[in-house]
Amino acid sequence: MEKEAAQELIQFINESPTNYHAIQNIKRELTEQGFKQLFSGEAWHIERGGRYFVTKNHSSLFAFVPGKGDVAENGFKLICAHSDSPTFRIKPAAEMTVEGKYLKLNTEVYGGPILYTWFDRPLSMAGRVLLKSDNPLKPAVRFVNFKRPLLVIPHIAIHFNRTINEQGNPLSRQKDMLPVLGMINEHFEKDNFLLKLIAGEMQIEPELILDFDLTLYDYEKGCFTGLQDEFISCGKLDDLAMVHAGMKALLASQDCDGTKVLAVFDNEEVGSGTKQGAGSPMLRTIIERIVAGLGGSTEDLHRAIHHSFMISADMAHALHPNYPEKHDPTNHPVMNGGPVIKLNANQKYVTDGDSAAVFATVCRMAGVPYQTFVNHSDMAGGSTLGNILLSQMELRGVDIGNPMWGMHSVRETAGTQDHDYVIKAFTTFYNI
Ligand code: ZN
Repeated sequence: MEKEAAQELIQFINESPTNYHAIQNIKRELTEQGFKQLFSGEAWHIERGGRYFVTKNHSSLFAFVPGKGDVAENGFKLICAHSDSPTFRIKPAAEMTVEGKYLKLNTEVYGGPILYTWFDRPLSMAGRVLLKSDNPLKPAVRFVNFKRPLLVIPHIAIHFNRTINEQGNPLSRQKDMLPVLGMINEHFEKDNFLLKLIAGEMQIEPELILDFDLTLYDYEKGCFTGLQDEFISCGKLDDLAMVHAGMKALLASQDCDGTKVLAVFDNEEVGSGTKQGAGSPMLRTIIERIVAGLGGSTEDLHRAIHHSFMISADMAHALHPNYPEKHDPTNHPVMNGGPVIKLNANQKYVTDGDSAAVFATVCRMAGVPYQTFVNHSDMAGGSTLGNILLSQMELRGVDIGNPMWGMHSVRETAGTQDHDYVIKAFTTFYNI
């Protein structure tokens, strides 16, 4: 069992309680490894031999290494993943008091979490804070992470709902899921309580805070489980595991003829339709700027897109030990069996025979096993950002991901060995 890569992943996720923090951590790692930050609002000077990245909204990031070869001939090798995970966002004017005794926070669900998994566990808060600056159009940005157990969403006792363990117990996102922040004492002032709490944590004046994007996260750290530590038990494996693997592969790979790109999008869990999501023209714009920066023409751009290949990397479903009937009868991806190629006859995934063949070859070259996933034909499956990107560029591409259980649980489970496998596969892809 090769545990080192998975151990690094757990560490990365522990330090990435929000999409903003994940991007900050990638940024730091890339900078330490010699990558230079470019800014969308400035002119780009791209050189062969350079290593670059650009961010958007502090929640998406695009890193690239220009290829040694002709960009039109060799195109791009892209690995795409997403930074966001289901969670609860703190609403404005969030403070709610109950009978003058309890303080709870009003929240809104982000994406599709398995709500039950968020009950009765220590939670904390983190996110982005917007501060007053000299330019009204550009507030200053800082990040905050409370890093301590602060909140809990208490479940109702079984004595008040005897049928709680029976199927079909619905939950109200507005009533059942609100977290308790504490008890109210004589010093409590409801006005701007949360703002003052944030300001205190950041050691700034509350008046400086214009707004914030704060979400809840599970305070408990990720760890290994299983007899031989064969599983990773951790939040946000979907999709920070693929983000981390893409970053490790980009850093481990050698320079090659094609231009390597790692694209980490935000907002996949809510349909990708934001300026920092895969539904925006952002990746296309970056590709255009790279081709132009390397001296290429519009014709070269079209040729480069034709010669490119994309791996859309999002986590996949492993055969569940308690629900084998939910899976396809013949395709059973298992934990630690290697990355999973996702196929769908109705093209909910970008994969086709051609691109599946490419990824299978990459895995063979890397010396790692691979598996295939198709939906049970009576089940509707999920979708990924791969197809959404194709509306911008007609890329060849494959949808893959590592097998996992409990997707969108606050704590998901994946295979320890698989993380090592997928990094090897991604590194081999970048090295071709
Ligand atoms: Zn995902």
